[in-house]
Amino acid sequence: TKKPRIVILGAGYAGILTARRLQKILRRDEAEIVLVNKHNYHYLTTWLHEAAAGTVDDERITISIRDVIDSERVRFIKDTVMEVETAAKRVVLCHGEPLAYDYLVMALGFEPATFGIAGIKEHALAIRSMNSARRIRHAIEARFAEFARNKEAQEKQQHLTFVVGGAGFTGIEFAAELSERIPALCRQHGIDRQRVQVLNVEGAPNILNGFDPAMAEYAKASLESLGVQFRLSTKIQSVDSRGVTLLSEAGEERIAPATVIWTGGVQGNTVVCNENFETVRGRIPAGKDLRAPGHENIFVLGDCSVVTDTHTGRPFPPTAQLAILQSAVCAENIAALVRGSEDVELKEFVPFIKGTVASIGSHDAVGEVFGVKLHGRLAMMMKAIIDIRYMLMLGNLKLLFGKGKLSAYVTP
Ligand code: FAD
Ligand code: NAD
Repeated sequence: TKKPRIVILGAGYAGILTARRLQKILRRDEAEIVLVNKHNYHYLTTWLHEAAAGTVDDERITISIRDVIDSERVRFIKDTVMEVETAAKRVVLCHGEPLAYDYLVMALGFEPATFGIAGIKEHALAIRSMNSARRIRHAIEARFAEFARNKEAQEKQQHLTFVVGGAGFTGIEFAAELSERIPALCRQHGIDRQRVQVLNVEGAPNILNGFDPAMAEYAKASLESLGVQFRLSTKIQSVDSRGVTLLSEAGEERIAPATVIWTGGVQGNTVVCNENFETVRGRIPAGKDLRAPGHENIFVLGDCSVVTDTHTGRPFPPTAQLAILQSAVCAENIAALVRGSEDVELKEFVPFIKGTVASIGSHDAVGEVFGVKLHGRLAMMMKAIIDIRYMLMLGNLKLLFGKGKLSAYVTP
């Protein structure tokens, strides 16, 4: 009989680790494994704020897919997924022929959620992928160069303004990185530091909603010491080619000229948003065994899935941590289906979330791990441990020494 084909869509945290786990547990004669991704590299989404601010080089956070999968076991296709045709059991690709599957893993990640706010899609920049991070870095550098040339702005004592929309973890991490880069950009372009401002606008009364309040307060003070100004209980109402309009109890406020970086939230990849799938705010609710509702042979992982915390009744925040945990259970469940009968018992996904650590530039961090609050050096160490652990999961010691900030810690 023909070997079943397992198709994995997306080579982010969820997809790449599912592929690696399957190549390990399934024998060559048991199944064909195919991995489809837009690019021939895997990128560390959790470091994109640094690439966007220009504080880390692109090549440090990208890893060639061929370096982390066994190409004898996993066929890699570089292509863009356009649609999943569930009735025909095939995936429509942008360039190649449609790809038939027996088992499918949907791990296409996130997209920025714009909540219908006017002008965000057209005029704000958003941290979404390696390419979008690059665009943000280039835009920041271009704004500094333009400001240095603009004699009128100098005479009128105008400001070069960056507005970061949203003070969740992405907004906070990015605002800190940007503030750290500003002194060097000012020196390079001969601009007075006082003339550059970073405003972090947050609709809620506090930053990092849902996070430990004491740690959130610590983060706020640390960002303020880097020069970030906060506008709390203030919403981004609209963005246009010149700047941004804010709305608070005090009324509307216009900030222009300004460059807007939108970090106001994420939703699932739009590829999953069609009549073939049940979705809740752009995400597919994953069943207990991580299958998509109504689809026996489709698993959904990472940021395009939503998993409810049975203790709180609320969804787990979409994180790399959750995606990594899901990948292990998904791979085991697919292997059980490939090997077993129709009514084989599948493993239930019960995540054990260890905590959260967020960087505040390269000299500070904040977190809560196993219920213990951390800040400063300890939190930075914890972040380094998380990064090292992930590199080890990718199974390549060379990566540990050659990539990312880690090389600074571990190379002699
Ligand atoms: P992704 O990592 O987004 O990967 C999706 C993959 O699919 C990508 O390779 C993409 O190229 C590919 N793809 C997308 N569309 C298509 C298509 N149509 N066709 C083909 N391929 C496609 N979480 C944490 O746990 N800890 C952190 O410290 C942390 N820091 C973060 C910092 C930032 C700046 C951001 C933005 C997020 C952070 N997160 C963090 C959240 C975390 O990055 C995501 O939850 C995680 O990336 C989700 O993994 P994923 O595999 O679902 O998707
Ligand atoms: P988020 O949804 O966590 O935060 C978005 C913030 O934007 C919220 O505080 C919201 O109130 C605010 N907002 C929304 N609309 C607004 C508006 N119109 N005006 C002003 N503010 C507005 O999104 P995120 O920060 O992108 O995070 C996405 C996911 O990635 C989360 O699950 C997060 O935990 C995870 N993440 C984790 C880390 C980490 O662990 N270090 C880092 C980054 C992201």
